[in-house]
Amino acid sequence: MKESFYDLNYSDLVTLINQNNLNNSAATVLFNWHYKKKETTQCRDNISKSSLAFFENYFDFSLPEIDTVHEAKKDRTVKFLFKLKDDHKVETVLIPFNNKYSICLSSQVGCAMNCSFCFTGKQGLTRNLTTSEIVGQFLKAWRWLATNRPGEERILNIVFMGQGEPLHNFDAVKKASEIFLSQHGTSIGVQKITISTAGYIPGLKRWSQEIPGVNLALSLHSPFEEKRSELIPINKKYPLDEVLSVIDKIPLNKKQFITYEYILIKDFNDSQDDAKKLGTLLAGKSAYINLIPFNTFPGSHYKCPDFDKVEKFKEILDAFKIPTLIRGAKGDDVLAACGQLNSKN
Ligand code: SAH
Repeated sequence: MKESFYDLNYSDLVTLINQNNLNNSAATVLFNWHYKKKETTQCRDNISKSSLAFFENYFDFSLPEIDTVHEAKKDRTVKFLFKLKDDHKVETVLIPFNNKYSICLSSQVGCAMNCSFCFTGKQGLTRNLTTSEIVGQFLKAWRWLATNRPGEERILNIVFMGQGEPLHNFDAVKKASEIFLSQHGTSIGVQKITISTAGYIPGLKRWSQEIPGVNLALSLHSPFEEKRSELIPINKKYPLDEVLSVIDKIPLNKKQFITYEYILIKDFNDSQDDAKKLGTLLAGKSAYINLIPFNTFPGSHYKCPDFDKVEKFKEILDAFKIPTLIRGAKGDDVLAACGQLNSKN
């Protein structure tokens, strides 16, 4: 079977080219064509006939297919359902902000974390995505914008907050990030990529050493161990205090901070005590809190708190001088908001 072109980072491609005695410039030419220009056709410019023949024979240049597209009328969020080669499906979301977009990428088919509040968790883990399937979501979404919203094909932020636990599929996510960061390719700034984790410690330890600079978000959701374990079962294996001590050791520059995500669930983790404990836990750290009012999905027994409760929660965190943002639910009318992605339903 042919290897996917999109599974290789720039240095892998250079190595392959050298091993096969091809012209060195081909790596830059191909990265430019497929990642800068985002062309989906075969590259025929500035490339020798013999190199072209080699690449055509060696590489598979196909990308995941777009199965369906849902556009939210309310806020222009776009949700894609991608069909992979083995017919499994994953979802990707484009979130608009000021005529630009953030893209929310999936890293696995389903997810093994089984968080009680998350729709994706309900479908279990089927398999990891490959690098090409991760990069492919970005390239296809970009192409879709170029065709359907011409002039708007500006995807400036990448967040690994779609289906899956990105640190549980470390190698593929790392390589995809390297491709996004490559100056020969999409050239996305290191601060524009965020990896969100439920607190999977083996991946966290590798992350801090192998992909420094990329932003980290921790799904915290409760400052109390027992309550957090109810929400996030892997908290029993990797408790919050251990997760935080690993995170605290990550070297950050002055402008960097860790994002802590906190879903607010009515009468479960939205009290003043929860807010005070959370504030105590994070005060003094380079922290930024995203409060996410719970997004409901079919079959869920959790509810979203009233807005004044959400504001009260934020006020308490403000008193701890921790920058806190209440995140609006973009795309909820097409089940594209956080935790609403489930490619089996
Ligand atoms: N596995 C990773 C990334 C995927 S989830 C992680 O756990 O961080 C991305 C974010 O959406 C996480 O903060 C997650 O906790 C949140 N989320 C999941 N289900 C949600 C729901 N029903 N409502 C609001 N946010 C949810």
